[in-house]
Amino acid sequence: MKKKLTIALVAHDQRKADMVDWVIYNAEFLSQHHLVCTGTTGALVKRALINKGFQPEVECKNSGPMGGDVEIAAMVVEKKINLAVFLIDDLNPQPHEADIMMLLRQCRVHNVPIACNRYSADLMITSTLWDDETYVPTPPRYEKFDRDKFNL
Ligand code: PGA
Repeated sequence: MKKKLTIALVAHDQRKADMVDWVIYNAEFLSQHHLVCTGTTGALVKRALINKGFQPEVECKNSGPMGGDVEIAAMVVEKKINLAVFLIDDLNPQPHEADIMMLLRQCRVHNVPIACNRYSADLMITSTLWDDETYVPTPPRYEKFDRDKFNL
């Protein structure tokens, strides 16, 4: 890939092992891009990449429950994030549920690709569309549902 991306990485505690494995699997790719992470995720990602012999660019925000997701959501709103990988713990309640929903919502509103599992993340980072100058992402449309238009 020619384009340098800014990639947000966030993993809840019970998904951190999964995130570290994914980062190691994609170490060479990720080391060529700017990574923005919540605090603990960032520390783990940075260490994993350094241990693989890379010199990663990792920007660590606050820990998630202390506002890290909010800081990353703000970057999404400011169009500073190209894509996000967000490994959510869907089996346990989180104290910062509202922040998690906000980050997901802002990614949808601002048309930022967001992967919530490794499979989606692999598909996203291997897409050739990143370097396709002719490809223009279609933003989401929010328009009144007109039954007639759909012949209902
Ligand atoms: P952490 O935050 O990377 O600082 O653990 C992630 C989260 O729980 O949202």
